[in-house]
Amino acid sequence: MKTPKAFQAIETRDLTYFRDLVPQSAIFIDAENLEKYGHDETEDLQFNPQVVLKPASADEVSKILNYCNARNIAVTASGARTGLSGGALPLFGGVALSTENLNRILEIDERNLQATVEPGVINQVFHEACKEKGLFYPPDPSSWGSSFIGGNLALNAGGPKAVKYGVTNAYVLDLEVVLADGSIINTGARVLKNSTGYNLTQLMVGSEGTFRNHYQSHFSVFVLSKHNMLFCCAFLRLLKPARAVSAIFQGGNHSQWNGVYGTRQLTIP
Ligand SMILES: Cc1cc2nc3c(=O)[nH]c(=O)nc-3n(C[C@H](O)[C@H](O)[C@H](O)COP(=O)(O)OP(=O)(O)OC[C@H]3O[C@@H](n4cnc5c(N)ncnc54)[C@H](O)[C@@H]3O)c2cc1C
Repeated sequence: MKTPKAFQAIETRDLTYFRDLVPQSAIFIDAENLEKYGHDETEDLQFNPQVVLKPASADEVSKILNYCNARNIAVTASGARTGLSGGALPLFGGVALSTENLNRILEIDERNLQATVEPGVINQVFHEACKEKGLFYPPDPSSWGSSFIGGNLALNAGGPKAVKYGVTNAYVLDLEVVLADGSIINTGARVLKNSTGYNLTQLMVGSEGTFRNHYQSHFSVFVLSKHNMLFCCAFLRLLKPARAVSAIFQGGNHSQWNGVYGTRQLTIP
C-alpha cells in the first residue's frame, strides 16, 4: 500500500499568503489561540494547529483549501469544538479552519418551510430564530447552546427530540460544500423529493469533517406545534421506559400525543 505523503509544515510564505487573503483579525498564530484550537471536548487530547484561520465567505474557504491542497498542508475544520470524538483536533498541525465568522442565518423561508444558514450558526440561535417565525428546527443536541450547525451536520447530531423527530440528517435538503481542492459543489436541491443522482448530501452528513468544509446548509423546518411539553416519568424497572416508548409508537399516530394529553390511556406491558 502506498504511504500517504507527509503534510508540509507551515512556512513564512504560507502565512504571507493567508495574510493577503483574510483580514489580520481572522488569522491567529499566538500560543494561547493555538492551544485553544488544539482541543475539543474529547478527553484531554491536545494537538495544536500552526495557524488558526477564520474565513468569512465561501470564496475565502475555497482559496484556503485550494492553496493548502496544492502545498499539502493539513487542514482541520473547527466548529465550536464541543465534539466528543476528536474530529476537530488538528492531528497533523497545519491550519485549524474555524467557521466562527460564517455565522449568518441567510434566510428563513416561511412559505416553503425552509432555511439557509452558514455553518458557524449556533444551534440554539437558529432554533430561536425559527421559533420567532412560528417554525421549529428539531435537532437539539444537549450542546445546542454552543455547538454550531456545521459541527452538528458533520456529526449528525441529535438530542432528546431524536426519537420523535429524527436527527440532523432528516432536515438537510442541500449543502453547498467546499471540497478539499477548493471547488464548490451543491449536493442536493431545495425540494423534499430529489432523486437526481446519488445522495451526496447524506454522504456529507455524519462525515466527521473528513470531507473538509461544509458551507451553506439548506434545511427543512416545521411549523411549530401549539403544544410542546417535556415530562419526566419515574420507572421502577429498567425495561419499562423502553416499553413505554414502544407502546406510545404502537398506540397509533404518536404525533397526537402533542396536543391531547389526558385523552388517551397508555398500557405498558
Ligand atoms: C455537553 C455536551 C453535550 C452533547 N450532547 C450531544 C447530544 O445530545 N447529541 C449529540 O449528537 N451530540 C452531543 N454532543 C456532541 C455533539 O455532536 C457536538 O456537541 C456537536 O454536534 C459538535 O458541534 P461543534 O460545532 O462543536 O463541532 P466541532 O466539535 O468543532 O467539530 C466536530 C466535527 O465536525 C467537523 N466540522 C465542524 N464544522 C464543520 C464544517 N463546517 N464543515 C465540515 N466539517 C466540520 C470537525 O472537523 C469535526 O470533525 C455533546 C457534546 C457536549 C460537549
